[in-house]
Amino acid sequence: ERDALTAFRDFTPKLADGTVIEVAANIGSLEEIDAAVEAGALGVGLFRTELLFMRHMHLPSEDMQAETYSALARAFAPHAVIVRTLDIGGDKPIAGIEFPEEENPFLGWRGIRMCLDRPDIFKRQLRALLRAAVHGNVKVMLPMVSDIEEVRRTKTLIEECAAELNAEGVPHARFPLGVMIETPAAVLIAPVLAREVDFFSIGTNDLTQYIMAADRLNPTVAKLNDVANPAVMSAIEMTARAGVEAGIMVGMCGEAAGRPDLIPAFIRMGLTELSMSPASIPRAKKRIADLAAAGG
Ligand code: PEP
Ligand code: MG
Repeated sequence: ERDALTAFRDFTPKLADGTVIEVAANIGSLEEIDAAVEAGALGVGLFRTELLFMRHMHLPSEDMQAETYSALARAFAPHAVIVRTLDIGGDKPIAGIEFPEEENPFLGWRGIRMCLDRPDIFKRQLRALLRAAVHGNVKVMLPMVSDIEEVRRTKTLIEECAAELNAEGVPHARFPLGVMIETPAAVLIAPVLAREVDFFSIGTNDLTQYIMAADRLNPTVAKLNDVANPAVMSAIEMTARAGVEAGIMVGMCGEAAGRPDLIPAFIRMGLTELSMSPASIPRAKKRIADLAAAGG
């Protein structure tokens, strides 16, 4: 079976109507690029930048970040690489940021919330991303969005960064901006968010825990922590409808994106990008190919 699946490495899955389904990889470091390419990733749908910030005794410089994002972009060109801005909270402390003591870190100061409160850190990352965007295939997405103002404030910061880079004569380019849909609030305002951004990426790992009110790390409530629960599937469908109606790309980067049993439902909802751990890619491509062969 292994050989049958390697046959899918260079295969671009398309539906019967010709729609390409981008099967991409979730990775967290440049070291994982080879495995992703080997598995057949057609780009990166989620580059987690946390490791870059956790690895060192100090926060990564703008130059170091720009080099990392550029190396990622070059490795996958012409396919897109979606870099997620820093998604860190009190559960994963890092040197250089002081986190408050929180009773519920998963409901606390993390992701876009922390970044907007620390524009020094956030702008360094946004400037690095604007610089890497000269490669033409970099996209950026924001984690843990729950309010439209978070997107608008980020756009203002991006404008500021671009103006600074202009004044400094540093080469840079604009990138498409997306949001992760991983809070119930984001699902409920998806039609509004869709007018403000270029794409959605559904983060089913967090979306499931927040919709079901069941901690993703707590084995006692693991049964409730199920993407296939009708409540979660309904949230995914609402998100997809809002994105499709607004004419923006809707993808998914939670682990559910690689589940062969759910892929047909996601495709029926209108998702055109599925990003997953490299190990899940061959089987997901095969599932889409089978679906297309059956007329789907
Ligand atoms: C998610 O929440 O589904 C996701 C992809 O992000 P992470 O697992 O890094 O929280
Ligand atoms: Mg998440």
